[in-house]
Amino acid sequence: MQEITHVYIDGRFVEPHGTELFDLHNPVTGEIFGRVRLGDADDARAAIAAAKRAFPAWSRSTKAVRISLLHRLHDAMEAKKDALLDAIILEYGAPISRSTWMAAHASNSFMEAARTLEGFDLKQRIGTAEVIMEAVGVVGLITPWNSDAGFICSKLAYALAAGCTAVIKPSEMSAAQTQVVLEALHEAGAPAGLFNIVNGRGDVVGAEITANPDISKISFTGSTAVGKTILRGAADTLKRVTLELGGKSPTVILDDADFAKAIPMALEAGFANSGQACIAGTRILVPASRLDETIALAKTALGKVKAGAPRDPDTTIGPMVSQAQYDRVQRYIRLGVETGATIVAGGEGHPEGLGGYFVKPTVFANVTNDMTIAREEIFGPVLCMLTYKDEAEAISIANDTPYGLQAYVISSDPARATAVASQIEAGRVVINGAPHDPAVPFGGFKQSGIGREYGVFGLQAYLEPKALLGAAST
Ligand code: NAD
Repeated sequence: MQEITHVYIDGRFVEPHGTELFDLHNPVTGEIFGRVRLGDADDARAAIAAAKRAFPAWSRSTKAVRISLLHRLHDAMEAKKDALLDAIILEYGAPISRSTWMAAHASNSFMEAARTLEGFDLKQRIGTAEVIMEAVGVVGLITPWNSDAGFICSKLAYALAAGCTAVIKPSEMSAAQTQVVLEALHEAGAPAGLFNIVNGRGDVVGAEITANPDISKISFTGSTAVGKTILRGAADTLKRVTLELGGKSPTVILDDADFAKAIPMALEAGFANSGQACIAGTRILVPASRLDETIALAKTALGKVKAGAPRDPDTTIGPMVSQAQYDRVQRYIRLGVETGATIVAGGEGHPEGLGGYFVKPTVFANVTNDMTIAREEIFGPVLCMLTYKDEAEAISIANDTPYGLQAYVISSDPARATAVASQIEAGRVVINGAPHDPAVPFGGFKQSGIGREYGVFGLQAYLEPKALLGAAST
């Protein structure tokens, strides 16, 4: 039984003031494997005070000092890569390929932020003015359970690169991997107070961070509903906010695509992180005349989609993170059937031979875009196939959603795909399976968020321009 009993404040592991204990479940079996003691608002305030004390010195540190620390943090994370992998597998049951990517993303974030800072001018001359990019202040970083180590590290890396100090509130369901991240970061020997981590409830620790006047900015990744609560809570003190929220991403397969390649590609985008990904391509749009072919190809491709033990290299789908998430996905599958969609594969219940929080990878056909399963974020491996009659209708269906995080376009003609991609209302459109690039901005249109993360855009989000008119040239 793993006991996580400390929060991290002012460079030290300390017992929290909060006393609530929260059980950690292995989603592969549903069994409890550990327990975390949660911090409370007092702990959040202590963490904020520590970050505030550390801010003046760190915000005045040179680029070279920050880059050197980011390298040390990266190396410390690399040294704990195996432990992080074990924690991610235990906590999420994520397949080995996915968990390896998650662990690498966490440590690579520090190198990415260092590279970005290296190439970024923190000062520029405009007329008589010197414009200086200053750290925005103490930042609150609030992250979700679906890839916590990665979100903690990527937000923290860019915040530190900008000269900010941070208070981090991870999801209470990710305490095991948070603990590994913390031990690694602690060993890198950063000045005390630069980053502080308080496990705790969203409406307790998260709410304190959101309201506290000593926090200048919140960077939040999570659901659209909580994002709105944070935006409202941050308004009183006019905090800067970056919100990375939910999605209902379309995959538009154009009629000239090679369907034998496009359908497996679309399923892969839809089942990313077992469907527990904000960027999952959960609405697959195909020409109406090609539906039968699409269904046949999807059935073949689904043969390679395998739910199972995380360390089995053939496994592509892991369990849902919790019983609540399992129940929620089951409700949506039931609703899909009740509202007239047809199950191509999957359905209610556990996959054969599996228990815990595994759900069956499910594909629906005969879905219209007004059905709840096509409108709401399910956050599980449940995909909807929709049909369109021409390109204009495909674009219109793709855009008929309150979300706008990511989209996918597949076509044999890159110029046509690019033209369609440019008409989709989303922060990112992936054309023909183009690979992830960590320097490219990431964030949502519409109710998928506010602001961008990663690369230069991500760094700027932690900076405030200050113009000194009539300044002497330096
Ligand atoms: P969630 O919104 O329930 O929780 C996210 C974080 O917010 C957690 O740490 C939680 O404790 C905290 N929180 C909850 N209530 C709060 C409050 N009142 N004040 C402050 N903090 C509060 O999200 P989740 O279930 O952990 O994660 C899944 C959601 O995250 C999905 O909607 C998914 O699309 C979204 N997500 C978005 C991105 C992106 O980059 N756009 C990436 C991953 C996940």
